[in-house]
Amino acid sequence: MSTTTVTSSVQEQEAQHVLQVYRRTPVVFERGAGVHLFTGDGRKYLDFISGVASLGHAHPGLAEAIAAQAHTLIHTSNLFFHPLQAEVATALAARTGLDRAFFCNSGAEAVETCLKFARRYWHTQGATQRTKYVAFTHSFHGRTMGALSVTWDEHYRGPFQPLIPQVVFADPTDIAGFDALVDDHTAAIIVEPLQGEGGVRPIPAAAAAAIEARTGALLIADEVQSGSGRTGSFLYSHTLGLTPDLVALGKALGAGVPVGVAMFSNAVAAVAQPGDHGSTYGGNLLACRAALVFLAALDSPALAASMAASSARLFEGLREMQSRLPVIRDVRGAGLFVGVDLTFDATPVVAAAFERGLLINRTSSTVVRLLPPYIVTPEDVDAALPVLEAAIVAANVDRGKA
Ligand code: PLP
Repeated sequence: MSTTTVTSSVQEQEAQHVLQVYRRTPVVFERGAGVHLFTGDGRKYLDFISGVASLGHAHPGLAEAIAAQAHTLIHTSNLFFHPLQAEVATALAARTGLDRAFFCNSGAEAVETCLKFARRYWHTQGATQRTKYVAFTHSFHGRTMGALSVTWDEHYRGPFQPLIPQVVFADPTDIAGFDALVDDHTAAIIVEPLQGEGGVRPIPAAAAAAIEARTGALLIADEVQSGSGRTGSFLYSHTLGLTPDLVALGKALGAGVPVGVAMFSNAVAAVAQPGDHGSTYGGNLLACRAALVFLAALDSPALAASMAASSARLFEGLREMQSRLPVIRDVRGAGLFVGVDLTFDATPVVAAAFERGLLINRTSSTVVRLLPPYIVTPEDVDAALPVLEAAIVAANVDRGKA
């Protein structure tokens, strides 16, 4: 069967029985290898949007480790011990500076955990008025009710009101406004140190300093997208000089296997009681095995060097492209988390790149977001850049015709 036929039969079946919450590109991928994805008829795509498949697709070490784990034991109830949670938690404590981990299955669940325990902390201190959350404009923290409540975009929030009532949004460029919102009713400030969905916007240094001062409130860093080494340091918080009390991790950490983790400072962890929180699947052996493979790979000096070289090549190439293409307004981000802000809506650029075999996505209307796997090489970057440029140029020409 041709790929087109496979795609349309899958599309038809999905249209009948799968909840229609995604605008999917009409393609069915059959397999992956490294930075590439392949369709059944052999079309090859360079994956520059695999925020999750951090070690690339079909990573042999990961595949072997999770297959071996599956042959041994995939899951036991959290009512029992297994050896891997402590191992992952110890590795994460060393990298984050936060001593305790709670394991769940997604970024949103990790955010929920942080939101819950910020309130639990103040409840235990007797400061029961500290229930408010201060979040930021352009934030995105996930789709569950708590995470959605601290997500800024009305498009995501509107149809699901009422959400958690005590949430206020601060503009990270207005320090006085932010300071005025943090008071003795604030349980926590929640921040993505490098905003992803909001347009690949790093929190400005002045805002980071104000957040770090935080006048008593706890600090939650949502590092679901910016964490786990993507920007070059394990947490982007550390790059900004932030010392969060709680950190949400996900995406890259499982290298494709669902893994979410909330990291706790000792002070916040001390208030947790058995029964306060839990997860059926969270931290099972399969998920922990994947996280261990990922963390071991991240320790490799060769990977660190290659990530740094690929990032440098990417920023260099994009800035050079910006000097030639006035429609590129800004190139932002850090490490392998990059945004190219255009003077027009990026939707047709994503489509034009797809037609040319490059997978990217759009965020915040005008921003092309690039999240290549950590194993991307400078040569892969060299292959991607001309395709991206051709896609931007083609979309801009079409815009002129419209
Ligand atoms: N937080 C941030 C910063 C994210 O970018 C996302 C997902 O894009 C989430 C939370 C939610 O993660 P998940 O989709 O795994 O629930």
